[in-house]
Order: sequence, then structure tokens, then C-alpha cells
Amino acid sequence: MQLLPGLYQVGSSLSGLTSDQVAGPFDDCNVYALDLVSEIVLIDCGNGDSWPEIERNMRMWSLDSSRISTVLLTHPHYDHANAAHLLKARNVQIIAHSYTADALRTGDERCCGFLYHRSFVPVEADCMVEDGDTLTFGTITVQCLHLPGHTLGCTAFLVSWNDNRVLFSGDVIGTLGYGHFGWSGSIDFDRKAYLQSLRRLAKLDFDVMLPGHGLCSFKNPRARVETSLNEALMQWRY
Ligand SMILES: [Zn+2]
Repeated sequence: MQLLPGLYQVGSSLSGLTSDQVAGPFDDCNVYALDLVSEIVLIDCGNGDSWPEIERNMRMWSLDSSRISTVLLTHPHYDHANAAHLLKARNVQIIAHSYTADALRTGDERCCGFLYHRSFVPVEADCMVEDGDTLTFGTITVQCLHLPGHTLGCTAFLVSWNDNRVLFSGDVIGTLGYGHFGWSGSIDFDRKAYLQSLRRLAKLDFDVMLPGHGLCSFKNPRARVETSLNEALMQWRY
């Protein structure tokens, strides 16, 4: 579905864009497509099984998947990144934080294949980023923000799009309701780092938040982050 001109959500089991056959509504993450005309940049790519559905959805909005040049991965969890090997085989550039790239390379428990009773297919990233790095695609610049906690490699991507500061936040906070934060079962979950990341995110200036699951926020998204921070402080204070 089109979220802003040239910006689409093309995958999500929770939104009914892709199927939920293995582990229910969290089978597949929200997959976003930025149409830069000369190329398409994806944010996350889903669990792999859903790739044909994502291509079908892209066709629905006249997006030719052969124009995909790059996928930016928010973290290595199976529902976000297991399709990366399929894209790599089509010469799509895989970009991830260095910690996430290490998990992708090994396909180990940090990728959470066990949650889906599947093996994560290892994949080599083509480009590794660190906190504060910027990436340029055509006329846009993407800022990389390392926000560890849900996993140690979690990265959000901030881009100015149609006069909106759009944050692709991955699983740094949950958006099924106010005050949620991402699933805490990852083998590399770190609540101390998570709290720091939420404190940092709560000070960031952005207009639109497009999360890894659930609902997008087009109005005052920082209020959601602040509520999640408060919830985390109450639950995890020590
Ligand atoms: Zn996750």
C-alpha cells in the first residue's frame, strides 16, 4: 500500500499483505519500498517464503522488482532478513550494521530461525554501516542509527521524504499498542542497551515512524517512543 508518494509497504503478515502460515501474525515483518524511479530501495525483505507475495504486491502498485538495487536490513531476525539470500542472488546490494552483518554471515541463533522451526540461510552483506553513517541513493540521503537492545545490531534508517522526516525503526519499539517495545526473547537481547536506545530515540526529531511490525505513525510518533521508554523504565529498572 502507498504510505507517501513513492513510498510503499509491500509486505507484512500483520497487515495481511503476506501470509501467516508458520508462526502466525509475526511470520513476516513490514517490508517498505522507496521508489527512486531509477532504482527501488527496500527496508527489510521478509522471511523468504513470502518473497513471491511481496513481488505480487509490488506489481499491484506498478513497482517492478527488477529495479530493486538495495535492501537495508534493520536487524538479522528471520522474519526481517531470511529473504536476503534470494535478493543477493539477483545482485541486490545487502546493507546492514556490522554486528548484524556478522549474524547474517553465520546464520546463527541471533537470526532466530529456531522461532520459525527453520534454518536461516546465511548471506554476506555487501556493505556494512556504523552508527551515524550516511548512504546516498539518487537524490536521497539515509542516516543510519544504531539502536541496540532488541538485538545488538538493531539499526534504524532516517530519510527525508516529501518534506517528512521518515524513520524506519525496525523492532526498536512495538506498535500494536501504546507502551510496547520489541520482543525481548532474542539471544542477544540487552535491556541496558535497549534503555539507552529508547532514551536516544525519544530525543530524535522525526515526523513519520514506519516500524518493523504493526502500525505506522504519521502523527506525533515520538509520543509512542516516550511511552515505550516509560514502560521499559518501569519494567526493567534496576
Ligand atoms: Zn526482531
